[in-house]
Amino acid sequence: MSTAIELAGLSDTQRQIVELARDFARDRIEPRAAEWDRTAQLPRDILNELGALGFLGMVTPEADDGMGLDTLTYLLALEELAAADAALALTVGIQHAVQSGLLLPRGTVAQRERWLRPLARGEIVAGIALAEADAGSDAAAIRAQAVRQGDTWVLSGTKAWVTNGATADVVIVMARTAAARPEADGRGISTFIVPTDIAGYRPGERVDTMGMRASNTVSVTLDDVRPPPEHLLGEEGSGFAYAIEGLTASRLGTAIVAVGIARRAFEHAVAYCAERHQFGRALREFEAVQFKLADMATRLNAARALAHAAAVRRDRGEEITRQASMAKLFASEAAMWVTTQAVQLFGGYGYMRDFPVEKLFRDAKGTEILDGTSEMQRLVIARGLY
Ligand SMILES: Cc1cc2nc3c(=O)[nH]c(=O)nc-3n(C[C@H](O)[C@H](O)[C@H](O)COP(=O)(O)OP(=O)(O)OC[C@H]3O[C@@H](n4cnc5c(N)ncnc54)[C@H](O)[C@@H]3O)c2cc1C
Repeated sequence: MSTAIELAGLSDTQRQIVELARDFARDRIEPRAAEWDRTAQLPRDILNELGALGFLGMVTPEADDGMGLDTLTYLLALEELAAADAALALTVGIQHAVQSGLLLPRGTVAQRERWLRPLARGEIVAGIALAEADAGSDAAAIRAQAVRQGDTWVLSGTKAWVTNGATADVVIVMARTAAARPEADGRGISTFIVPTDIAGYRPGERVDTMGMRASNTVSVTLDDVRPPPEHLLGEEGSGFAYAIEGLTASRLGTAIVAVGIARRAFEHAVAYCAERHQFGRALREFEAVQFKLADMATRLNAARALAHAAAVRRDRGEEITRQASMAKLFASEAAMWVTTQAVQLFGGYGYMRDFPVEKLFRDAKGTEILDGTSEMQRLVIARGLY
C-alpha cells in the first residue's frame, strides 16, 4: 500500500509541480538530510536551488515574481520536500507564510517591490520573530518595544527561538508600540520588516534542538535597531492581528510538514515489516503489525485531507483560522503517533541513529510545539464554537 500523493487525480500543473518536487527531494535533499541533521547546518546552496526552481515563491502571484500557484498545489509540493527533510520544509513554509500571510495582504507597493519580489524569486530568505522567553503561548505579552524617534523607529528587546534568525536576510519582528501591556486582543503591537544586516540586530548562539536540527533556531537581541518608517508593515498597533494571519498561513504549512514526516515514517515501516523476519515469518504477516500499519495509513491520510480541505477553502477566499488550527493540531499529533509506531516496529533498530525513523520521530515532536502548541490550537478551535 502506498500513501504517497496519487498523481492520477491531479491537474496537469499539479502533477508537474509534484513530480518536480519529488525528483528534487530524491536527488538533492534525501542524500544529504542525515548529514544536515548531524551537523545542524542547512547549506544556503540548497535554498538557492529551490529558489531557482520557483519553490520559494509558490503562492505569490506571477506579477510579484512568484509562481502564482494555489494553496493546494503549494501544499502538494511542500509535502514532497518535507518527506525528505522537515527542517528544510519548515524553512520553505516560513518563507511562504511571510509572503502569503504578511507581505501580500499588508505590504505597500514599495514593500512588495523591495521585499516580496526577492523573497518570491528565492534571492533572500525570511524569518518571523514573535515569541519571547516569557511570551510564547501568550504572545500578546511580548515586551520588545518600538518607539518612534523623529524619522526612525527604535526597536529594543530579545526574541526567542527565531527559526533562521542567524541566516535569514529579513525578519518580520513584532514589537510593542503602546506603552503598557497591550489589550488581551494584542492591540498595541506593531509589525516591522527588519533586514538582518541592520545595526543592532544580534543573533545569539544556535539553540541545540531535539529535531528539525538543520533549521537554525536562535534568540535575537534587538539592540537599538533603527528601521526607517517605511519598514512598518500595515497599521501601527495592528501587528498582533497580522501575526495571527501569518500564523494561519504558517500552520497550514506546518500541518503538511507533519504529513510529510508521517508519510516517510510509514513508508520505512512498511518496507521494514516486509523484510524483517521473526518467528520464521515477515513482521507484516502478524495481524497486530497489520493493524498498526493500517492505523498509521489512516491517520496520515486523514491529516492530509484536513490540510487540503483548509487549503481549498483558502483558495476560495474564505477565512481559515480554525481550519488551519485543526489541520496543524491533527497532523502534528498524527505525525507524533505515526513516528512512535514506526520506531516501535523497527524495534531496537528504531532507537538507533543509523536508522532513519528516529530522526523522523524527533522532527515530528517539533510540529506539536512551533506555530503554537497543540493546546493553543485547541483553544483557537474551541473559541470558534460559541
Ligand atoms: C523548533 C522551534 C522553532 C520555533 N520557531 C519560531 C519562530 O520562527 N518564530 C517565533 O516567533 N517563535 C518560534 N518558536 C516558538 C514557539 O512558537 C513557542 O515555543 C510556542 O508558541 C510555545 O511557547 P513556549 O515555548 O513559551 O511555551 P509556553 O507558552 O510556556 O507553554 C508551556 C506549556 O504550557 C501550555 N500552555 C500554555 N498556556 C496554556 C493555556 N492557556 N492552556 C493550556 N495549556 C497552556 C503549552 O501548551 C505548553 O504545553 C519556535 C519553537 C520551536 C520549538
